[in-house]
Amino acid sequence: MARLSDAFIDDLLARSDIVEVIGARVPLKRQGREYSARCPFHDERSPSFTVSPTKQFYHCFGCGAHGTAISFLMHYDRLEFLDAVEELARRAGVEVPRDTRAKNEDTETRDVYAALDATMRFFQKQLAGNGKAQAYVEKRGLSAETVARYAIGYAPDGYSGLKDALGTDARRMALLERAGLFSKNDKGHVYDKFRDRLMFPIHDRRGRVIAFGGRVIDTSSNSRSDSPKYLNSPETLLFHKGRELYGLWQARQAHTKLERLIVVEGYMDVVALAQYGVTQAVATLGTATTPDHAELLFRNASDVYFCFDGDRAGRSAAWKAVESVLPRMKDGRQAFFLFLPEGEDPDTIVRQEGAEGFEARLAQATPLSAFFFAQMSQDVNLSSLDGKARLAERCKPLLAQIPDGAFGDLMRQRLTELTGVGARASSPATHVPVQRARNAPAMHAPKRSLVRSAIALLLQQPSLAVALQPPYRFAELRQPGVPLLAELIALVKTRPDISTGALLEHFEGREDAGALHKLATQSLPGEEAAWQGEFIDAMAQLEKQTLQQRIEELQAKQRDTGLDDIDKGELRALLQARLA
Ligand SMILES: [Zn+2]
Repeated sequence: MARLSDAFIDDLLARSDIVEVIGARVPLKRQGREYSARCPFHDERSPSFTVSPTKQFYHCFGCGAHGTAISFLMHYDRLEFLDAVEELARRAGVEVPRDTRAKNEDTETRDVYAALDATMRFFQKQLAGNGKAQAYVEKRGLSAETVARYAIGYAPDGYSGLKDALGTDARRMALLERAGLFSKNDKGHVYDKFRDRLMFPIHDRRGRVIAFGGRVIDTSSNSRSDSPKYLNSPETLLFHKGRELYGLWQARQAHTKLERLIVVEGYMDVVALAQYGVTQAVATLGTATTPDHAELLFRNASDVYFCFDGDRAGRSAAWKAVESVLPRMKDGRQAFFLFLPEGEDPDTIVRQEGAEGFEARLAQATPLSAFFFAQMSQDVNLSSLDGKARLAERCKPLLAQIPDGAFGDLMRQRLTELTGVGARASSPATHVPVQRARNAPAMHAPKRSLVRSAIALLLQQPSLAVALQPPYRFAELRQPGVPLLAELIALVKTRPDISTGALLEHFEGREDAGALHKLATQSLPGEEAAWQGEFIDAMAQLEKQTLQQRIEELQAKQRDTGLDDIDKGELRALLQARLA
C-alpha cells in the first residue's frame, strides 16, 4: 500500500483543529486548557474523555481510547485511514496528493472492483427475468425491498451465463477470474463458478462489492447432491473471508451509531432478520469467528450477540468465538451467547415469532462470563479439590488474555469463588498477553529522572527539540529511556510540525507506547514559557552525565590495562570540558 508522506500528515494535522473535528460529533465542555466529554467509545456517566487543543490529541481515562484527529475519524466515523485523511483534508481545504490514491488502488484493482460490480448487476437482472428464481424468492418470503437492499441476484444455470455476458475479451476474462468468479477444470477449461444459485453480494466497509455468497435453490427434485448448500467466492486480493462480515455494510447504513451487533450463521438469517426489523445482524462467511472478526465487531458496536444452533456444532462454534473475543474484552464491551432450539435458525424464528420474539430471546442470552464458566466446568466435579484445581488450571491461561480492567477482575474473582484458587498466581509466561506487556512501564528510571523529564517536556510540546543542535552526545548515555529520547528528538528534527498526537501515533504498537502515552496525558506544572529553558537545561545535564560516564570508563581502563596515547588525550580533554 502506498503511503502518504509523514510531512503531509503532519501538515494536515497542523491545519486541522481536533477540537473542531471532535466537537462536531461529540458535545465538548471546556475545562481549563482542555475539553472534556462523556466518552463516545465506552458507556460512562461522568466524563473521562479529554481533548487537548495544544497537544492535538484525545484520550479517555476510562477505556484508554486515544489518538489524533485522523484516528478519531477512523474510530468514530469508522473510516479507513485514507478516507479519514480525505475527510480531514476536505475540511481543511487541502488536496490529498493524487498519486497516493492512484498508487493505493492501482488501476488493476479498480478494474476488479468494477468487474464485481458489473457481475452484481448481471445477477440482479437475471433474478428479475427468471421465473424459477423469482418463485424461490417468494417461497422464502423475501420482499422486493429486501432483495433490493441486499442487492440479491441470481446466477443462471449452465456453465457460461456470466462468462458469455461479461467475459467478452481476454482482459475482461482475466478480471473476472481475478475476482474469483470462475472455476477451471482439469483440462484448463474455464466456466462460471456460481450456477443456479441465489446470489448475495458481500460488501466491504466502503460499500464496494468484493465477493459473493451463493445459496442453492432447493427444488428438491433436481437438487444436485454434489453441490454444497452455500458457496462463497474464493479468497482473492480483495476478499479475505476471515476479515469480512456479511451484512455489516447494510447494518452500518441503517444506524448512525450501532449499539449492538448480532452474529448469525447465514446470509438468509441476516436478510430475514433485517426484513423483520432487526437490522444489526451480520454473518461470518463459512468460517468460525476469527480474532479479526472479533476486532471488527467491537470496533463497530460495544455489545455483540453470538447466535448459534443449540447442537454440538453450534456449541463448539460458540467456544471458538469465546477464544477470539476474550483478548478483546476491554471495559465497556459485552458479549452474549444465544442458542436456538435444534432445527431452528434466526430466519425461521423471526418468521414464527416476529422481531419481538427474537428480541425476547436475545434478552435471555447468556453473558460471556456465565457461558465461559459453564463450558470450562462441564466435566469437572466442583465438589472435589481435584476438580477445583483442574478448573483453576484450565481457566488461568484464558483469563490471562483479558485486558486489564473490571471485566477481567470480575472473571478472576468468579474463578476464586468457584475454586478458592486465585487466577493471578503462576500463569505461564507464554500466556501473558501482549496488551499487558505493552502497558508495563518502558522506562524503569526513578520517577523524576532527567531523561524522563526531558521526554515529558517533549511530549507536552514537541517543538522544544527543534532548537537542539547535533552532535547529540547524550545518546551514548547508558540509562533507561535514552534511546527513546534520542528517537523522539530525531523525529521532531525531521518533522518539526509534528503534534503530540502524531508523535504518539508514531510509537503506536511499540513497547514504549503505553509509557509515552501516560507522560503525554499528564499536565506539567509550571509555565509553558519556561519549558524551553527546562528542556535545554535537562539536555545540558545529560550531556554532562555523558562526559562523566566516559571519564569513568577511561579511568577504569587506566586501572585495568592502562591507557594509550589517544585515550590519554581524550581523558585530558574530557576533564577540561567538565571544568568548563
Ligand atoms: Zn472511553
